[in-house]
Amino acid sequence: MDVMSTIESKDFSNLRIDLHSHTKFSDGGLTPQELIERATNFQIDVLAITDHDTVSALDIANSYISEKKYALNLINGIEISTAWQGFEIHIVGLNIDRTNPELLKLIENQQIARESRAISMGEKLAKCGFEGIYDKAKALANGGSLTRAHFAKVLLQQGSISKMQAAFDKYIGKGKRAYVKPNWCTIEEAITAIHQAGGTAVMAHPVRYDLSTKWLRRLVIQFKQEGGDGLEIVLPQMSNDQRQLMLSFCLEYDLHASMGSDFHHPHNKWSDLGRNLRMPKKALPIWSLWPEKLQSEMLSR
Ligand code: AMP
Ligand code: MN
Ligand code: MN
Ligand code: MN
Repeated sequence: MDVMSTIESKDFSNLRIDLHSHTKFSDGGLTPQELIERATNFQIDVLAITDHDTVSALDIANSYISEKKYALNLINGIEISTAWQGFEIHIVGLNIDRTNPELLKLIENQQIARESRAISMGEKLAKCGFEGIYDKAKALANGGSLTRAHFAKVLLQQGSISKMQAAFDKYIGKGKRAYVKPNWCTIEEAITAIHQAGGTAVMAHPVRYDLSTKWLRRLVIQFKQEGGDGLEIVLPQMSNDQRQLMLSFCLEYDLHASMGSDFHHPHNKWSDLGRNLRMPKKALPIWSLWPEKLQSEMLSR
């Protein structure tokens, strides 16, 4: 049997696939090794690591899997923050070449944007009465991507707020006192860099942007026009209406479908690895765009 007929005759629906997760190299709680251990314990077959604007976890995770001889199929990924009409839209790159120079250049620029936003955010938080937060957040990030989640955690740890969400609601969420408009790349730049790195570009969690259906449609249309490949339509917590709408966008605009938990921390049981993820039958899965060799590897474990 040739490769193609093998793929067609086999069924991906028996695989546990999670194409969105984070490590300590951005705002996740686990090291790459700990994440791989968790994925293996949870019998995940295919896992993408998609840290915010960095690929630093990927080498470590790949080496660890080889060293342990785990059967887990790791997809090299990234989650790129972009600016669109005043919103921050996340674009996930899957099956990327993590050494691609164009992608690395974009990452470098995103890290500069993260650093300058963080400094300004620190200054604004100081005016809110919280001194020295930038230094503490920077130390917490420990050389990884510095995110607002680190700022929130510092505020929580020092008792300035009672839960992480309050940091966004009161200070660093969009439009709040210490919010700083970030200088992210455009959606098109993110898609182009992902494609240059040989990857597929997926719009992360479309239902989480707080956009009306009309605006979401505009976003999806532009994403498609600019070369986007798929929408992340399967997430752990979605209403039936949201599921239906996302599937209809995929079918209407000829986009593939991705699924992922957006795993950050073990204590959040609702978004744990591989949890509640099932690809709708009518959707064209994003992995059908990947090289046949990779698809066969996914099926051969
Ligand atoms: P950043 O990419 O630096 O803007 O950081 C945003 C990250 O903070 C997201 O990826 C989430 O993991 C986390 N986060 C948690 N709650 C919120 C919220 N209410 N708004 C935005 N981000 C949040
Ligand atoms: Mn995050
Ligand atoms: Mn995201
Ligand atoms: Mn994410």
